[in-house]
Amino acid sequence: MNPFHTIDPNLTKPDGWVLRILLENVQTLRARSTLELQSNNDDGYCSQSSEDKIPDAKQSPDQDKQTEQGDGKVIDHLRALNDPKDSEFIPIVFLSWDLEDLANTPIVFRVLLQCYVGWAKTIVRNEVDVVMLTHLLLYLFTSVPSAIYLYRHFSLIHGFLHTVMHVWYAGSYTLMMHQHIHMRGVLAKKYAWLDHSFPYITDPLMGHTWNSYYFHHVKHHHVEGNGPNDLSSTIRYQRDSLWDFFRYVARFFFLVWLELPLYFLRQHKTTMAFKVAASELGSYLFLYLMATRVNLHATIFALLLPLFVMRIGLMIGNWGQHAFVDDVEPDSDFRSSITLVDVASNRYCFNDGYHTSHHLNPRRHWREHPVSFLQQKHIYAKESALVFCNIDYLMITVKLLQKDYNYLARCLVPIGIQIGMSIEAIAALLETKTRRFTEDEICAKFKHS
Ligand SMILES: [Zn+2]
Repeated sequence: MNPFHTIDPNLTKPDGWVLRILLENVQTLRARSTLELQSNNDDGYCSQSSEDKIPDAKQSPDQDKQTEQGDGKVIDHLRALNDPKDSEFIPIVFLSWDLEDLANTPIVFRVLLQCYVGWAKTIVRNEVDVVMLTHLLLYLFTSVPSAIYLYRHFSLIHGFLHTVMHVWYAGSYTLMMHQHIHMRGVLAKKYAWLDHSFPYITDPLMGHTWNSYYFHHVKHHHVEGNGPNDLSSTIRYQRDSLWDFFRYVARFFFLVWLELPLYFLRQHKTTMAFKVAASELGSYLFLYLMATRVNLHATIFALLLPLFVMRIGLMIGNWGQHAFVDDVEPDSDFRSSITLVDVASNRYCFNDGYHTSHHLNPRRHWREHPVSFLQQKHIYAKESALVFCNIDYLMITVKLLQKDYNYLARCLVPIGIQIGMSIEAIAALLETKTRRFTEDEICAKFKHS
């Protein structure tokens, strides 16, 4: 038993179901191939090792049917959990706890919680997104007053704690805004004014520059899909090289203000180029004025350190999401991004681990990713997509830079033909997917280059 293939009870229930199904699949196919081998050996036909034979293992039609029925039940259950009209529907109110974890709290708390959920459903755009309002209120009552106090009565210890709190918030906030930028809001239409204005206050506090996430991610990254024209593309970098990683981060850090407007100009999107340049340079001007005219020390802790951490975090995340790119079909969403199951990113960052599913349909609601993954499981397997568990994007990047492919291979949840491969073979396979593409290869392999 691979110790990395364990289900963490503290992570999301849908992830637990998805991982359980994948692991059962692996066990079933391996057990069947072992049985076949034994019977072949008994008949005196086969002298090959079991490792050699496993790739040929296939489920019998009966097993296929059983698996499909089992998957179908889980898919129906997951769908019901997400459907407000279904009796099984469970709203997500907090990212850290499920409602059932709060069943033993005092009755007063549970009544208040019920009242809050009833009210929150009328405020959010999609009534399954109560958690978005919870987080908006969290930031409104912690980030904003803390920053105001820091500007009025600065102290080093407060500045340090303020920055730590915002580094802690960074992932959840960014992925909440990820939903916001893809759907152009998270609140009900009647609150559009609030929906469009709150990011101008919260974005700088969390380390984002105004509107840049929308222009960079939605209007550029998803259009280019990690291809040659994507400014955050990983394909021209050796993804297990520390030097290449530094170059990748530094390019975004120092040049995005120039490169993104130039990208839109090359695409003949002049208005967008102007807007993104104005947003980015306007943000820098705002930071400069806050530092020089208002309070330098408060600006360092409330605005500059969060910006520094966020930009590095965004690039580490993108590196991890697109580090493994298939050398045969690098423009396939299945082969240029990965899926993480049963990881903290899914619990605290709105299912961010399902990155392939997100690229397949960027407007898919975050709660739909596990069910959508299960529905398309056979395509992921056929396409030899990569699915990992018990490792997050940050640690994927760290392990890559350590060239620890063995560790990464043990975190891989094998699907399709990978089920028959040894850890060493998977490690070697992963290594082939982190190689830098030459310009000739890019011309030959990317249809739109
Ligand atoms: Zn996206």
